This record gives sequence, structure tokens and C-alpha cells, in this order.
Amino acid sequence: MIRTKDEIAKMRRAGKVVAEIMEKTREFVKPGVTTLQIDKVAREVIERRGARSNFLNYHGFPAVICTSPNNMIVHGIPSKCVIEEGDILSIDCGAIVEGYHGDAAYTMPVGEVSALAAKLIQVTEKSLYAGIEVMKPGNRLHDIGREVQAVAEAAGFSVVRKYVGHAIGTAMHEEPQVPNYWPGTPGPKLKAGNVFAVEPMVNAGDFDTIELDDGWSVLTADGSLSAHFEHTIAITEDGPEILTLA
Ligand code: MG
Ligand code: MG
Repeated sequence: MIRTKDEIAKMRRAGKVVAEIMEKTREFVKPGVTTLQIDKVAREVIERRGARSNFLNYHGFPAVICTSPNNMIVHGIPSKCVIEEGDILSIDCGAIVEGYHGDAAYTMPVGEVSALAAKLIQVTEKSLYAGIEVMKPGNRLHDIGREVQAVAEAAGFSVVRKYVGHAIGTAMHEEPQVPNYWPGTPGPKLKAGNVFAVEPMVNAGDFDTIELDDGWSVLTADGSLSAHFEHTIAITEDGPEILTLA
């Protein structure tokens, strides 16, 4: 799908709302807060900006963000779960402006965390930016995952296979998928006007996952820590433009 300049302008506005959710939730998170309170902070941003949530009611999801602590990889449901000193917390968030979607995620340390946790967060964010760097017209879709995987594995970590990034536009999840690893083929050529949400999920241990009975929460099968970073990125003639930056 090739998005026009006008469409990308709308996605840029959605991206700004998403960036503000990331900023405000990051400021709010500290030991003792519940993940439900963090969701409320995100709701207030969406409301204040006159945007809509793309997470709320998505296949019945009950909140505007996903909150996934420690060994939870993605899709955690905000609850009375209290965040504690030493935790790491992944927050995935999105917004819709004039029918166009933004989607992003980050993992943050809560207070003092282990050296392993700090390294995992740093490497996962670095892997996202390595993927973004090759998002240029003429490169191939799966070049993105190849770069992500190289950074994660060089640090001794693994990249989740079961959950991947996606094209994004008038729906949050559009085709094609964007794997965070090399799937064995180069995939289609990238073109100016393509917009993708790239979202490496990196585990300190193995990449296998399990899902909880709540139908949402995804955890590492081996109990190891996991981090998640995501941006919505438009490919332009000049290279990648990250739409979900403040
Ligand atoms: Mg997301
Ligand atoms: Mg996404």
C-alpha cells in the first residue's frame, strides 16, 4: 500500500499523540503504581488530543495500552498489578486521528534494575533503530528483520518469531507482516509511501512463547525477561521518517 503525502500527514498527527502517550506514561511510572493507573494516563492524552484509541475493544481488548512487565512479552492487560522497584515494564500504545493509525511501544526500567535487564532494554531499542536504518526505497522488506536479528543475537539474546510487525494505515494491522528476523527470503521491495510498524520483541533467553488463559498475555516460555520497542515509520524518497517521535 502506497500512502499519499496527505495520508502520511494524518499518520504523523496520530504519531504525535502516540509519542505523547509514551512521554506521559514514562513520566508517571514509578514503584507502587498499578498498570490500570498507567492506562488512565494514556486515556487522558487520547481524550485531550481529540483522538481515538485503536487498542480499546480491539478483539475485545479492555484498555488503551498494553502493559507487560518482566517476563511478559506483549499484550498484557492493565490491572491492579503493582509495578515494583527493579521491574522492567513494556508499554504498547496507539491512537487514531482522522481515521489514520499510529502504533508504538517502549520498555523502561523501574528504579534500579539488574545489569541484564538494562542491557536487554538497550539492545532491543538499538535493534529497532538498526531495522529502521535500512527502510529505504529499493531495499527489501526482510532486510529490516535481518538487521534487528543481527543486533539482538550479537548481544546473546533471541528475537521472538511468533509475533511480528505490520503495515499500518487506515487499520492498525495491515498486510504485509514485518518479521523481526530473516525469514529466508528477501520479501518485496520497499517503496516511498509504505508505512510500517516495526516492533522487535527480544528475549534474554529463548524465543519460545506461551499465552496465558486470559487470551492475551504472552510470556517467555523459559521465564526469561523480554523487552519490546516499536515505532510507526513512513518510507520516503529520502529514507525513513519515524512518525511516532515527539
Ligand atoms: Mg504496538
Ligand atoms: Mg504494532
